[in-house]
Amino acid sequence: ILTTTAPVARPETQAFIDQDHQLLIDGQWVPAVNGKKFDVVNPADGKVIAQVAEGGQQDVNNAVAAARKAFESGPWPAMTASERGKMLWRLADLMEQHIEEFAEIESLDNGKPKAVAAAADVPLAIDLFRYMAGWATKIEGTTIPISVPYLDGAEFHSYTLREPVGVVGQIIPWNFPLLMAAWKLGPALAAGCTVVLKVAEETPLSALRLAHLVQEAGFPPGVVNVITGFGETAGAALSAHPDVDKVAFTGSTEVGKLIVKAAGETNLKKISLELGGKSPNIIMPDADIPAAIAGAANAIFFNHGQCCCAGSRLFVHRQHFDQVVEGVAEEAKKIKLGPGMHPDSNMGPMVSQIQQDRVCSYLDIGAKEGATAVCGGKRAESEGYFVEPTVLIDTHPNMKVIQEEIFGPVVAAVAFDDIEEVIATANDSIYGLAAAVWTKDISLGHRIAKRIKAGTVWMNCYNVFDASLPFGGYKQSGWGREMGHEAIQLYTQTKAVTLQLK
Ligand code: NAD
Repeated sequence: ILTTTAPVARPETQAFIDQDHQLLIDGQWVPAVNGKKFDVVNPADGKVIAQVAEGGQQDVNNAVAAARKAFESGPWPAMTASERGKMLWRLADLMEQHIEEFAEIESLDNGKPKAVAAAADVPLAIDLFRYMAGWATKIEGTTIPISVPYLDGAEFHSYTLREPVGVVGQIIPWNFPLLMAAWKLGPALAAGCTVVLKVAEETPLSALRLAHLVQEAGFPPGVVNVITGFGETAGAALSAHPDVDKVAFTGSTEVGKLIVKAAGETNLKKISLELGGKSPNIIMPDADIPAAIAGAANAIFFNHGQCCCAGSRLFVHRQHFDQVVEGVAEEAKKIKLGPGMHPDSNMGPMVSQIQQDRVCSYLDIGAKEGATAVCGGKRAESEGYFVEPTVLIDTHPNMKVIQEEIFGPVVAAVAFDDIEEVIATANDSIYGLAAAVWTKDISLGHRIAKRIKAGTVWMNCYNVFDASLPFGGYKQSGWGREMGHEAIQLYTQTKAVTLQLK
């Protein structure tokens, strides 16, 4: 762990963090109805950096009522698609003026290196809003020629309208707090929905900063409401609310199932889910091995392994197994752990003590089940929540470290001998979010891509994201696709209109 002191945040960042953080409901900043607050902790040292309002059932009710009013009447539904697009673009421009501030907030709240947040999280969020701004004016229906057999000689004109689904509840996780807010808000607002956004309790600050810019960009009151609060209270209230038309959720598969259950028991609201993963990263015998080693390290260590698409199962052809394991372990040893605000830090702490404990319990279970840590394998000595980047070998398919999502910097490496075997084991998972294959044989790469059951397959690369590429899961990794034009489908529904001409 880097021992030198990390720089403090810039004055404007600190001034924002020191604010009295309230809930954004109907265009007003308000305290929680019950007056409660909770602490926000910097995971690099375990110290409290802010307090935010603890929204609960009543606050969610108020936010949903505001979102309903804004959806049904007032300026928002009367605005043209072009005006909605321009407003999203304006939001992106405002964010661009605050890149460093957002990066500092993200680093202090989530733990990730500031430089990574400034290079990845924040620009990707800005780009997402710009991409979705363009979609606002391109949401179209179709005209459909119909002939109705039982109405001989009649003529009709039929067309479809693509309409916003309505009031949307959005529940997001802590791993990419700002980016997940963007993935959710962008398409919903482009489509003309109104939103109640419930941010993760671990990392509420960047979404609150974004909410200030949403107001500055001119979104009418009630179009975007932001609730800080806990999952079991605020999140559960949103997913069970009878006047919410849709919930979009990113987080654990376990909570995803609770969201579906809550919808089933109430108003059958529409649901989209982006859940966990245990993504296979396959290195074929003909791969560019140095590139594959660097790619495999990035696949698992980016964002401290706290990525739903982390390449946590590394399948290497036996011919190169030792070399790749050694190479990835070397990369792991080069990683400097330290506070995200430290300019030399390559990897920050886990987001919370709970997450650190969760990851370390998997390391213990792995060791008990017979896995060997080639490097790392334990928490780092520090008051912060650091875990050493870890490469595990000597695993077998039934181990928990192979089957379950760890959500930390822990990769399990497995040797394979033939293609059929590796495809079968790669697909032997309840998840299907992402996968990668490294090979110079391009037709083989495409054949494998076709047979992997995952929503994303990278070839000779990893963690490549773009606002125009749909992202989401097969199997228990989720329902629906975020980003790309498919994200617009999540927030719109089709109405078929038929007129009799003759
Ligand atoms: P989580 O699923 O509990 O939390 C995600 C969001 O859901 C948060 O906003 C939380 O407040 C909310 N939530 C929690 N319980 C809820 C409920 N009953 N009803 C409605 N909303 C609820 O995730 P976590 O506890 O922070 O992390 C647990 C595990 O989830 C991690 O170890 C990791 O495996 C996985 N995870 C996945 C992602 C992802 O991007 N797919 C992100 C974070 C965590």
